[in-house]
Amino acid sequence: MAFEGLADRLQSTIQKIKGKGKVSEADVKAMMREVRLALLEADVNFKVVKEFVKNVNERAVGQEVMKSLTPGQQVIKVVKEELTKLMGGEESKIAASNRPPTVVMMVGLQGAGKTTTTGKLANLLRKKYNRKPLLAAADIYRPAAIQQLETLGKQLSMPVFSLGDQVSPVEIARKAIEHAKEEHHDYVLIDTAGRLHVDETLMDELKKVKEVAQPDEILLVVDAMTGQDAVNVAESFNEQLGLTGVVLTKLDGDTRGGAALSIRSVTETPIKFVGMGEKLDALETFHPERMASRILG
Ligand code: GDP
Repeated sequence: MAFEGLADRLQSTIQKIKGKGKVSEADVKAMMREVRLALLEADVNFKVVKEFVKNVNERAVGQEVMKSLTPGQQVIKVVKEELTKLMGGEESKIAASNRPPTVVMMVGLQGAGKTTTTGKLANLLRKKYNRKPLLAAADIYRPAAIQQLETLGKQLSMPVFSLGDQVSPVEIARKAIEHAKEEHHDYVLIDTAGRLHVDETLMDELKKVKEVAQPDEILLVVDAMTGQDAVNVAESFNEQLGLTGVVLTKLDGDTRGGAALSIRSVTETPIKFVGMGEKLDALETFHPERMASRILG
């Protein structure tokens, strides 16, 4: 399960301080040394860890905590609040344009789960928000990506806009949006091309698609299992394209959690959804507070 190691370590660390009737500065320091190590071992970005420890220390050593009736529990509350803040604080909702269709560009590297997530997001939009999305197949490079999206569309009984792999992604995006307007779709999810690595050709193309599609939302799909690589990928995409959100996939796997805890802080981009499995209903809205509770027990 995701975060298992981190959760175990943090929970046993905070357990020690939980019931204490008196908490000294040294107690907090000792706890935070262990918390720091646990976070680093979970592959959380070191700058993020440093900032986090500093913030908790500042608040936990303060008067309100030390002088409270349950200082142990107050310290834990501070840890939880800071962890929540680290992951963005509030839930961050998907954009909804007041001039439909809302255009969502799905971007990411190959294998991250972009195409699957496009299908899952369409499913979620319909189920949870009663929307009528159109899927657009603009990944013309990966063999079978178009077919994969069409298969997902069939499974969902949802239309997929495709012009084959001989038309440019820019043209596909443009036509898909026109088509969505004609057919009164309120969302267009554009599945763009991925590559194995971030490269200039890919970014140039995505920039062109962005220019034409004028998306309300650019969602980067990254694989939580890849840890700090996911954070680096998010940084590059954000610099080049300006992301509005991140979808973290494969959180059902045994990821240590580094990406989930670092991405928001490093890129200032909120995690909006998490992938919890391969099935089409395995996409969830990301709730920072619930995630923090899950980690801290
Ligand atoms: P793309 O190259 O980024 O479009 O990747 P795909 O959508 O083809 O996904 C790559 C693989 O990851 C597929 O086998 C998916 O079923 C799998 N996958 C995607 N999201 C998740 C997830 O949240 N959990 C798990 N376990 N597998 C996922």
